Amino acid sequence: MLIFDLMKFDKIKKLKELINNSKNIVIIPHTSPDGDAIGSCLALFNILKVINKSSNIISPNKAPEFLNWTPGFDNIIHYDIDKEKCKKILSNSDLIFTLDFNDLNRIGELKEFVIKSNSQTVMIDHHQNPKDYADLVFSNSKTGSTCELLYEIFVSIGFESMINKDISSCLYLGMMTDTGSFQYSSVTSRTHEIISNLFNKKIDHNLIYNKVYNDSSSSRLKVLGSALNNLTHVKELKTVYMFLKRDELEKLNYKKGDSEGIVNYGLTLKGVIFCAIFIEDVNIINNVKISFRSLGTFPSNLFAENFFSGGGHTNASGGKFEGNAEKAIEKFLKSLPKYKDKLI
Ligand code: 5GP
Ligand code: MN
Repeated sequence: MLIFDLMKFDKIKKLKELINNSKNIVIIPHTSPDGDAIGSCLALFNILKVINKSSNIISPNKAPEFLNWTPGFDNIIHYDIDKEKCKKILSNSDLIFTLDFNDLNRIGELKEFVIKSNSQTVMIDHHQNPKDYADLVFSNSKTGSTCELLYEIFVSIGFESMINKDISSCLYLGMMTDTGSFQYSSVTSRTHEIISNLFNKKIDHNLIYNKVYNDSSSSRLKVLGSALNNLTHVKELKTVYMFLKRDELEKLNYKKGDSEGIVNYGLTLKGVIFCAIFIEDVNIINNVKISFRSLGTFPSNLFAENFFSGGGHTNASGGKFEGNAEKAIEKFLKSLPKYKDKLI
């Protein structure tokens, strides 16, 4: 049984027509794509291949190395590396899928070329407050991952029998990473039903988990150590925060992706319901990337939106700050008491 209530017949019919009538399909994930962004883009890329439709995946920048095993990964083209090629592909495209984001600001400079293109655009996403840019929108913020939503779309459109082992592995990747390995409150019995169906396609779930979480380089572990070492517990507000300074990251031979997931350790501290990590950009001076995580109903996304020009989901969100980590933390500590009633 399908529980996805947005799966109206006319939308699916339109999507089917768009796919059938298009010759040059482009698929775009958000900047610094994560497991769900890469998983959904490659699941779509691979299923289009099964129905003999070729497509191009254009990512604003590179995905972390621990995702490079995902079936079809080598086909991804990077805008920051080959701008002219990407612009040309976009100007010739007739259908653009934007996956795992709902605001064109999340793809940086690429935004301009998506707007300029004469393509039909389809948004498939699970974040809150979708912006109004797409011709066809599949948006459900109750769904734990874009990959889960995409699975429902595949089933509704009649592609279920085409979901092979590779496509299942891509979908499993996004479902696993965006649910904290099936621990978040977004996980439902339907999530597990879908996972069961993916297991029937003989995915190697153990291998996927190991590739993503147990493939650390020594720099990743040292970066983790550094973050944990400077953890601060604001006990009265059930909050912890960590930070990573640019000079420290350089010393530890930091590579992109090394800090992924570190923020989650904050929530393992007893009694904590809100945590943050402040990471100074190693390339751009005075630029801090912040990740927030929370337990239960604490709206980390509203906090991110109110104070750090960000957003995301209730339990996992992010934002940014212009300045250094100290200044960002200063603002964080000043802002926390404004959410006191939700933290105690
Ligand atoms: P992460 O902390 O893993 O980078 O991001 C967690 C979640 O927050 C993701 O779902 C991501 O889409 C969202 N997010 C991260 N940074 C930003 C941001 O700067 N703006 C918005 N709107 N969402 C963000
Ligand atoms: Mn996602």
